[in-house]
This record gives sequence, C-alpha cells and structure tokens, in this order.
Amino acid sequence: MRRLELAGLARKLYPQDCLLCSGASPEQAICDGCLQVLPSPEEACPVCALPSPGQRTCGRCLAHPPYFSRTLAAWTYEFPVDRLIQAFKFHHRLELAPWFAQSLARLLDFPDPLIIAMPLHKRRLAERGFNQALEIARHVAEIAGGKVLHSAVHKYRATRLQSELPLDARVRNVRDVFRCAEPIRSNKVVVVDDVMTTGATLNELARTLKQAGASQVVNLVVARTLPRGERRAPTAR
Ligand SMILES: [Zn+2]
Ligand SMILES: [Zn+2]
Repeated sequence: MRRLELAGLARKLYPQDCLLCSGASPEQAICDGCLQVLPSPEEACPVCALPSPGQRTCGRCLAHPPYFSRTLAAWTYEFPVDRLIQAFKFHHRLELAPWFAQSLARLLDFPDPLIIAMPLHKRRLAERGFNQALEIARHVAEIAGGKVLHSAVHKYRATRLQSELPLDARVRNVRDVFRCAEPIRSNKVVVVDDVMTTGATLNELARTLKQAGASQVVNLVVARTLPRGERRAPTAR
C-alpha cells in the first residue's frame, strides 16, 4: 500500500468503491476494513493533540498555553491519510469532504457548534479554486447541526508555507494575518482545518477570534502532524 502513487489512487476513485483499496464500499468513501487501519491519535494532549501519556495536558501547553483551549483531531497525518488529504486538496477530490466531515462530527461533544473554516488568502483561493477547510466545515455543519460563519474572518496577507520556515519564524510569519469583520457573539467557536502542523496558524486565528469576542476556541482538524521521531511505523497489511 505504501507504494500506491497518487495517480494510481486517482484512477481508483469511483464513488461506489473504497478510495484506498477499491473494494466495495457503497455507503462511505473508505471501507470498514481500511477505516480500522487508518492512523488515529492514541493518548493525546487535549489542548494540542500531540501524544501525551494519560491524555494529560502536555508540558508545552502548560508552559505556554495557546489561545485555543482544545484540539480534536480525527487522524494523524501519516500514510494513507496524508494521501487522502493531498488528493482532496491538490487533485480536487471533493467527494472526500463529506467523509472527512463525518470523521470530525463524531468528535464533537457539544451541540450546535458555531463553525469557522480556516480562511484562505484570496490568491491561494484563486489558485486552488476552493477553500478545503470551508468545504469540510459545510459538511460538518450539515451533520452536526451547527452553523458556519462564512465571512467573519479573512486572511488578508498571504503567508509563506509554515513547513518551509524554521520554528521561530513561524510565529512571525502568521502574526496579524487575520481580520475579524464582525464581533463573535458565542462562547465557543469551532475552527475547522484540514491539517494542523505546528499549530502557529491556528493559534493566531484563535487569538483573533478571542479578540473579537469568542471566549473559547476549539480546533477540529482532520489530521495532526506528529513531530519527527513520534511517527509510528505504518500498519502492515
Ligand atoms: Zn478499503
Ligand atoms: Zn499540548
């Protein structure tokens, strides 16, 4: 399965078949067998979703509490979840949005969430043609009964890819990139994003939302990137 290339994956994308193994899966994008071997977070810090024994708040979050209060992650950003997200984002496999949303909605433990999708700068939006986080957020709202606040927050400055930058530059790179156009009148705001890498961008968005009136920000992400050294060996199949 590791040798599976994106092109091969794309050829296998038929609505009635599992996107990963091409086996029959009439009800959902990923069949039950594949679902069981997808990499999911085990014991994780409730705040940042990185591995933490006993699910305790980790030392990093205790020493430097972020602006968000929780992070709910469906999967870890490893094979084959990484391939699914890349197919969705870069190869327009939009039929994955409802499946990602299902994986996220089952993590929500409170009703009627007010949802904000991680904004995309207009240049990036023009290149890609859609905001992947918004596509997922819309489906989460349909399933979980919440509401998506569409135009409240904008990313008004394009940023360099966080993954290209050293750690200390990542915070500077995202500082003040968001503007909230209206006050947020909600205790709890759910921010939907596809991948959480360092968390610097989500933290900056949470800071902006709290300035605008949100009292609590919960991240809801499809996949959490694990730090080097904490990635698990792929499950043998
Ligand atoms: Zn399958
Ligand atoms: Zn933490």
